[in-house]
Amino acid sequence: MAPTMKRNSRMTRRQWLAAAAVGAGTAAFPRHLCALSRFAFPGSVPQPTVREVGSRKLEAFPMSQVRLNAGIFSDAMETNHRYLASLPNDRLLHMFRLTAGIPSSAEPLGGWEEPKCELRGHFAGGHILSACALHFASDRDVELKAKGDALVAELARCQKALDAKGYLSAYPTEFYDRLREGKKVWAPFYTYHKIMAGHFDMYVHCGNEQALAIAEKMAGWLESYLKPIGDEQWARMQMVEHGGMNEVLFNLYAATGKERYLALARRFDHKRFFDPLAEHRDALTGLHANTNIPKVIGAARGFEITGDTRYREIAQYFWQEVVSQRTYCTGGTSNNEGWQTDPGKLADQLGPSAEECCCSYNMMKLTRYLYAWSGDARAMDYYERTLFNTRLGTQDSDGLKMYYLSLMPGLWKTYGTPYGAFWCCTGTGAEEFAKLGDSIYWHDAEGIYINLFISSRLDWPEKGITLVQETRFPEEEGTTLTVRTRGPASAPLHLRVPDWAARGLTVTINGAEQNASAAPGTYQPLNRTWKDGDKIHVRFPMSLRTASIPDDPSLQAAMYGPLALAGRLGSEGLTREMIYGPLGPDAAHRIPVPPITVSGDAVGNWIEPVKGEPLAFRTRGQATDIRLIPLYRISNERYTVYWKTALKSA
Ligand SMILES: [Zn+2]
Repeated sequence: MAPTMKRNSRMTRRQWLAAAAVGAGTAAFPRHLCALSRFAFPGSVPQPTVREVGSRKLEAFPMSQVRLNAGIFSDAMETNHRYLASLPNDRLLHMFRLTAGIPSSAEPLGGWEEPKCELRGHFAGGHILSACALHFASDRDVELKAKGDALVAELARCQKALDAKGYLSAYPTEFYDRLREGKKVWAPFYTYHKIMAGHFDMYVHCGNEQALAIAEKMAGWLESYLKPIGDEQWARMQMVEHGGMNEVLFNLYAATGKERYLALARRFDHKRFFDPLAEHRDALTGLHANTNIPKVIGAARGFEITGDTRYREIAQYFWQEVVSQRTYCTGGTSNNEGWQTDPGKLADQLGPSAEECCCSYNMMKLTRYLYAWSGDARAMDYYERTLFNTRLGTQDSDGLKMYYLSLMPGLWKTYGTPYGAFWCCTGTGAEEFAKLGDSIYWHDAEGIYINLFISSRLDWPEKGITLVQETRFPEEEGTTLTVRTRGPASAPLHLRVPDWAARGLTVTINGAEQNASAAPGTYQPLNRTWKDGDKIHVRFPMSLRTASIPDDPSLQAAMYGPLALAGRLGSEGLTREMIYGPLGPDAAHRIPVPPITVSGDAVGNWIEPVKGEPLAFRTRGQATDIRLIPLYRISNERYTVYWKTALKSA
């Protein structure tokens, strides 16, 4: 079932890249990129034209300045790379070409890219470009950059052949006629957003000017389409999913300075959805989740671009409400794609389709905005929890992605097939696993904020400082940072003290213990003039705790540090067809999970570590002995995150 690999599978990607670089010299890079120094192109090759108005306290370091070292995150990125590289461009382009009247004999893709699916093109001309661009920004992935460049060149041909006004899609404009006329159609602008964003990302991260030209032409078509549509009609049309159209248009405005794109972006303000949020009212019950989160991401970007504080209010209130009232212990949100219940009511939501992976991707993207504005470590607590539990472990060893991460006890993880899925979550997953280094290190004017404990290296040439982080976290309950500098460097370091670090932390610098008293959920400052080779050892012991469903304390999950633990329930009755293909597991095939008896509130009453095995636990004092491991490590077996508990009778 492994996707066809185009290169020698015995080579690691790093070896392959090194070989490619030697073989090709600089030919793999366009001339204008070669002229730039290693650090000259940050998250954005081109400098934005529009000055941002909304204030950020902190900036993430550009991905080009952060490199992952060996570990579970670099492995996940490598797996994603293999999957993306295995997808033939001719198959990805097939429906774009046919729609444009360009012959294609390629075998059509399946799933949501199959020739009759009304979302076709969302991955094949959208997510794939974003993922290739992000891989290049993350890891100088010249193979995927070349793949993305080739796709852009062919999509430019399609755009030219399709429509003089700049339309580009894998289906005809007739879909937009249906949208305008109120007839049934899936979500044309959802797809349009992915295609525009894919091209924009190829411009931002890879310097592909042709991709920017395509995105601008697409905006031109959009302008002509929207012009005759009145506000009332548009409000009705906005009830159909339109993804992050506002975000990509704000970005296009920021990159080009062209006011037309700002006006277009604001046209995508969704009054009916935004108004209650701006008034701090939770009117989310009954709404589709992943349709709406990207609109809030757009609002957040809108605040940064325009300074309109209403956008900031919308984003802050929404995030707070979803994270505090509508989120499981994993960090995920949604059941059966929506918010089905009143705030804080999750007890009957642990279904086979709780939770959708896209929601986590988009909530984390939104979190980055809020964190940048506030610098509040608690935003990164949420980010870390969601990253470890709902992102890591949602692709299999061949890079196939999950759609629903089921929370119904006794079910299992399901994944797509190589050419027959292409779900929304395949797309957001492909982007996620291309940018795992984007949130580890942040900075203000003076210092570095170390937020995630991931084996990696940060270069900050402006300060003349390199930080090497070595850790096997979460297997190791701490991390080691080594400072590399040519001369004395004075950048203060701010070390995130996670909210789960209830047992405190210890910090040593070059063996000398430091006074480290920062509370969980804040930062431990480390101020000194750094010299080359300074070594900082950090230890923050994890501990077991429970996380109950808010409206039913008897439904408990076990947590260890940021990790949701999953009980291993065996693989009895599972077939390959049950695991590969379906959006989520079939509740009809669940198995009963034994209840847990507890004699008090403390989790230690029913669970204990397995001695000598890192991150392994077992139930204690139960009729059935069950092993637990982190949810992210579960694959091809049944599990439960939440347990029904009952007090042991005296
Ligand atoms: Zn999805």
